[in-house]
Amino acid sequence: MLLENKQVAIVGGGPGGLTLARLLQLKGVDVKVYERDFNKDARVQGGTLDLHFQSGLKALEDAGLMDAFKVNYRPGAGKGRIVDEHAKIFYDEHNQVSDEDFSNEWFRPEIDRGPLRDILLHSLQSDTVVWDSQFVAMSKPGDAWKLEFKNGTTAIADIVIGADGANSKIRSFITPVKPFYTGVIIVEGSVYNAETMAPSMHQLLKGGKIYAFGAEKYLHVSSKGDGSLVFYICTKEDENRVQTSGIDFSDKRQVLAWLKKEFREWDNVWLELFENAGLPLIPRPQYCMPFDRSWSTLPNLTMLGDAAHLMPPSGSGVNMAMLDALELSECLTGNDFEDIPAAIAAYEKEMQTRAAKEAQESLEMTQWMLAEGALAKMVQMLSQIQD
Ligand SMILES: Cc1cc2nc3c(=O)[nH]c(=O)nc-3n(C[C@H](O)[C@H](O)[C@H](O)COP(=O)(O)OP(=O)(O)OC[C@H]3O[C@@H](n4cnc5c(N)ncnc54)[C@H](O)[C@@H]3O)c2cc1C
Repeated sequence: MLLENKQVAIVGGGPGGLTLARLLQLKGVDVKVYERDFNKDARVQGGTLDLHFQSGLKALEDAGLMDAFKVNYRPGAGKGRIVDEHAKIFYDEHNQVSDEDFSNEWFRPEIDRGPLRDILLHSLQSDTVVWDSQFVAMSKPGDAWKLEFKNGTTAIADIVIGADGANSKIRSFITPVKPFYTGVIIVEGSVYNAETMAPSMHQLLKGGKIYAFGAEKYLHVSSKGDGSLVFYICTKEDENRVQTSGIDFSDKRQVLAWLKKEFREWDNVWLELFENAGLPLIPRPQYCMPFDRSWSTLPNLTMLGDAAHLMPPSGSGVNMAMLDALELSECLTGNDFEDIPAAIAAYEKEMQTRAAKEAQESLEMTQWMLAEGALAKMVQMLSQIQD
């Protein structure tokens, strides 16, 4: 095996990095994951994820983790309601029977990010993840890499894989290509104990999702298994809007004043979300890696997931990161390649082709979701999937 007696360092313990660690460990590879979170109890932000048959679920299957997934997924959590700015329902998936059939390639079961991380973490040998290891730099004194972390520690690895997400620090060691701004900012918020704190929203959500469209804005609300809800406000903005607005996103008064202005054309029912959100809200300007640019493969360094192909959310990001992990592990531990650079080159070629197609679709989706007629288009899209 190409990785025999090699030390592999994965930087970043998100879904992509942890899936890769598990798949490599199943083949007997010596692997460490360096993660910046302080420990395993760090709160995992973000909403529920739906895993897809040919990617996220396939990776879990190969990782031997489908039984754990079936215990932790949330039946019915993918059911959505499409509403307008007055919360009038135009399409309701709660009226449909779901068959929870894992052999159906269109079944996309939902799981929260925290439980998904826990499943992957529990599957690893103890001490695989080195917490509180924020990667800051690396050098190559010989054939191996020397990694440096913010806390002053260092590590040596024969192969490094960047799985450090949207703002990857590994990326610049591989390519000078930088993500470009897409013109959209997503502001993320959470309401804890939603049944009590936001009862109308809780009722409208019905344990699933809300897709709300109005005045060229999109509001996505998603229920979580811990009783909280997560919302994403998506608007078209200048890249530096967060700084130029001067809004302090941890100041309730300022946040509410901003939201009331932004959503002045929307019904007051949405105020329940904004007034009860935990602070700070998190503004996330959306970037995308240029999909017409590749890079020359390096002998013992590569990347996966958002580090390699950041793009605006289209519901596929986690799935792609996990499929990258599966394909990279297959290339590195199979018998198809004569050396590690050839294995990495084959992985990167396939991954870049797939990501380019997905990035284009995600950019198009971002445009139409914030344009006039978005609600009708979304209704049409979901109706077609159901047929
Ligand atoms: C608002 C929003 C909503 C989304 N919704 C969905 C969705 O519904 N479905 C979906 O499939 N995708 C969704 N995505 C995309 C999805 O979150 C990402 O594509 C996915 O998480 C990528 O996985 P990853 O493992 O590559 O990176 P990440 O999940 O970002 O994980 C990276 C890990 O690296 C760690 N890290 C970062 N920097 C360092 C460092 N310097 N040193 C050490 N560790 C580091 C981080 O702490 C993190 O644990 C959404 C994204 C956003 C922004």
